[in-house]
Amino acid sequence: MDIVLKNAKVYTSDEQQPWADTIAVREGRFVFVGQESDWSDDGSFTVHDMLGRLVLPGLIDSHTHPSLVAESQWHVRLPWTHDVVALLEFIRAFGEAHPPEEMPFLYFEYYPSTLFGGGQPTKELLDGAISDRPVLCQDFSEHSHWVNSKMLELMEITAATPDPVPGLEMFARDETGEPTGHLLENVHHHFIERMYARLGWRPPTGLTAEGMRPFFQFMTEHGVTALFEALVADEDTLRSVAELDAAGELHVHYEGAPRFRTLDDLPEAIETVHHYQATYGNDHIRIRTLKLFLDGTNESGNSALLKPQSDDRCGENHGEIQMDLDDLTACLVQCNRSDVDLHIHMVGDRAFRNGCDAVETARKRATEDGDEWRIQVTFAHCELVDPADMSRPAELGIIVNWTTHWSGGYFGEEAKKYLGDERWNRMYAFNDIATSGAALTFSSDVVTQYELNRGNPFFGIHVAHNRVDPQYPLDPSRHPDSVRPDAASKLSLERLIKGYTIDGARQLRIDDRTGSIEPGKIANFVVLDEDLFSSDTDTFLETKPQVVFFEGRAVSGSL
Ligand SMILES: [Zn+2]
Repeated sequence: MDIVLKNAKVYTSDEQQPWADTIAVREGRFVFVGQESDWSDDGSFTVHDMLGRLVLPGLIDSHTHPSLVAESQWHVRLPWTHDVVALLEFIRAFGEAHPPEEMPFLYFEYYPSTLFGGGQPTKELLDGAISDRPVLCQDFSEHSHWVNSKMLELMEITAATPDPVPGLEMFARDETGEPTGHLLENVHHHFIERMYARLGWRPPTGLTAEGMRPFFQFMTEHGVTALFEALVADEDTLRSVAELDAAGELHVHYEGAPRFRTLDDLPEAIETVHHYQATYGNDHIRIRTLKLFLDGTNESGNSALLKPQSDDRCGENHGEIQMDLDDLTACLVQCNRSDVDLHIHMVGDRAFRNGCDAVETARKRATEDGDEWRIQVTFAHCELVDPADMSRPAELGIIVNWTTHWSGGYFGEEAKKYLGDERWNRMYAFNDIATSGAALTFSSDVVTQYELNRGNPFFGIHVAHNRVDPQYPLDPSRHPDSVRPDAASKLSLERLIKGYTIDGARQLRIDDRTGSIEPGKIANFVVLDEDLFSSDTDTFLETKPQVVFFEGRAVSGSL
């Protein structure tokens, strides 16, 4: 249907023409963007008076996890409490109400990361609640877990089992080497198949079109018209996304990134990317990026730091880095040559510096070899960046991706233990990076059904603009009005919209087709019920798209 929206307040994300009051859409594309006085109607368009409502380009979530959310649907939600006894009582009663025949493995999320103060959870404590079957409780940070003895037994973990990735994916142990029941990162992923085999049971997979549909529906309803899946672990994911697309139910441009771990893994991973693209790639689906983890998290003390961790008396613990500079440089050169982009998880300031150094060297090497530098490198998270490195993404053409809804109190003050006050106070600072000219993109990074509500881009815009988390506010007695320091790192509405639209499109390499409201581009846009530019900043949260258009068609709501 060909339509004209007039009397609208259109924010275009096109620097040449940031505002318009009239747009026309024909055959799925914008054919006019400008002032009503310049529009000549030939009578073939249906005209809608927008009564001054705000129109934005479709939003882009440039780091999220549809398949992890789909797969988490069988997990059990824990009550949010800092009382260990109450938590264990909930777990015990749940186990009693749901016998092993019904639920052979119980997966609870989440317990607060500070539940045990400076200590760690133990398998014995959990055994006291349930010992007749394996139980896993996930820490709120997503980077550690608490399991019972039955789970260790069925995974065949003993004092003699080596840690698969020392320093990162490992078992906490007592003085005799016996695992205590506290797991760091997803160490259990290396062993859990043994447990499923012994149970003769597997969790219901969410990696079907039906399992993944609710995630995409949620995103569509909240104005998202393109997204980047930051880790495709399984081909079933792509098969399901392709199935939704074939059924006309995928209303986003989708890109998915498989993962690799080492330089040795890379050639096979590149093959996988090319194979997936050949099998599933089309106008809506693209696979041309690889994901790499360079360090862990600031909350679990395994981020790579320039200065030692604050709680380390010897001054030697700089956290862990997963790939040295030479290997990372070689990976970049190889990806560039193979037309594969790289999306790198990095959290600590040493990971960020190493990443920049590697890109700088790889660019020089590619030029010396006569290769054009065409790879797109995205650094995801970048929670702590040394002031000396702020302008390097702009100089090196690196895109920086930030998960907006983390900007307030979501992770509390847990990283302080490792970073100390000074470093904690300057986390999540992106204005200098963007001001120096780098593209800054935004994301939800939701990994479970539990936090899907925070995947709403307007929730993220709210938190990043105010640096206050409405769900998990920082203690106001320590942080006035619960504002997370540094207040100067609040992101402006214009910067947030740019990152959620045109810069997000650049990261996904679809900026030639979408990301802004310009004649010739695909008509992906949202009509909002609230004018963000003139409303109170503490109401961004409540903003909802009234209508979401994908390829010129209303896919949520109607005019
Ligand atoms: Zn992620």
